[in-house]
Amino acid sequence: MRPYLLYSDGKGNIFEDTSLYTVGRSGWDALPVEEADWIELPEGGSLYELPDRRGIGIDVKTGEMRICEKGWAVAAFIPPAHTGLYMAAFEALPDAQTLPLFCYTAAGWYDNKFYVTAVRIERDIRQECSGYNDTKIQAGVEHMLEAYPHNRLVQHLANNCALTYHCPAARNYFMGRWECPIPSSPACNANCIGCISFQPETEEIFSSQDRLTFKPTAAEIVEYTVPHLETAPYPIVSFGQGCEGEPLLMWETIREAIIEIRKHTQKGSININTNGSKPDAVAKLVEAGLDSIRVSLNSVRPEVYTKYYLPNNYKFEDIIESLRIVRQSGGWASINYFVFPGMTDSVAEYEALREVIKYTDLSMIQWRNFNIDPDWYLGKINVADTGEFLGVRQLMDLIHEEFPNVKFGYYNPPAERMKNFETDFAH
Ligand code: SF4
Repeated sequence: MRPYLLYSDGKGNIFEDTSLYTVGRSGWDALPVEEADWIELPEGGSLYELPDRRGIGIDVKTGEMRICEKGWAVAAFIPPAHTGLYMAAFEALPDAQTLPLFCYTAAGWYDNKFYVTAVRIERDIRQECSGYNDTKIQAGVEHMLEAYPHNRLVQHLANNCALTYHCPAARNYFMGRWECPIPSSPACNANCIGCISFQPETEEIFSSQDRLTFKPTAAEIVEYTVPHLETAPYPIVSFGQGCEGEPLLMWETIREAIIEIRKHTQKGSININTNGSKPDAVAKLVEAGLDSIRVSLNSVRPEVYTKYYLPNNYKFEDIIESLRIVRQSGGWASINYFVFPGMTDSVAEYEALREVIKYTDLSMIQWRNFNIDPDWYLGKINVADTGEFLGVRQLMDLIHEEFPNVKFGYYNPPAERMKNFETDFAH
């Protein structure tokens, strides 16, 4: 199977170009995609027109690579639980605007269906779009706002996260299930180029959501999280969300909250999604009862990491230390790995990843799609050549072969899965 290239007429209509087979992008390169790397576009995925960009394909007759002049390039935004193996291949016109913070996976048309280059990396169905019920969410919002009339966090989760941003974690909270978000920090000690909660006015793009504007108290956190841990199936409460800065800047409040939560319940697990910048604070949170950590990163190479995160007063080694501290205390440590084909699967990155896994005794890699304009990203971190690469699927196979205990997925596992990762929970 070789899917045909897709193009848009600029009016929201998408067509296949049967004179061109679609290709994938890795780093700056366009290349043919192997048959095994294509899957049907999963439910919940969507297609994007890429304005002022021409798609690249292989001529069906000549086998030559060329540009599609019929319209604008098209890419897929693949749903959670799936990892993209190649980006959409395109050539941008000189005055093309920077694309918003979404992932742009290669897509094509075959046998009357849309196909994408991706793999399902996670069995958990917590963010399947078919699993959400707006009526239940609305009822949950009304119930929680009534139950906690003075809780600013519940108001934020209701009015902003669930009803405005349609955040999957907040919607699960109001459906009384699984992972419950705890945003806590209005500030951050990093300046990520593709930050989803804050973009400088000088940038062309906008953050997908606004950053939290207040510092919650430990009491506000405890009030709504204890009932969730007590009643939800496979309950997790997670500090560190897309609508805030860095939670470790609020570690004293978080520690107080963890201690208080554990006075009321031993159920479920307490997780923190973080940039991992303050290992000392992480050690204090582990002491208080933190069960798992997820450190987000675009790369495990210090120079590539630093050019993207632009850290204030911390260094790459600090984030690695945070992972190690949690593992040494018997906790679960994941990396939230922003997968960028050509960079993540470069030989240099692979070698660095092996060392990080060995040094930290890492529990899990969450293979996330990097939501960023590829040209903009590589330009911003000043990468003209991404070097030799393995292919994302081959990278996964090599890591799995050498480190079979390192779990692969997309979400923070509940306590049951941290104990036995093969636990298969029918929600
Ligand atoms: S660590 Fe998170 S909140 Fe801070 S700049 Fe980066 S993406 Fe934004």
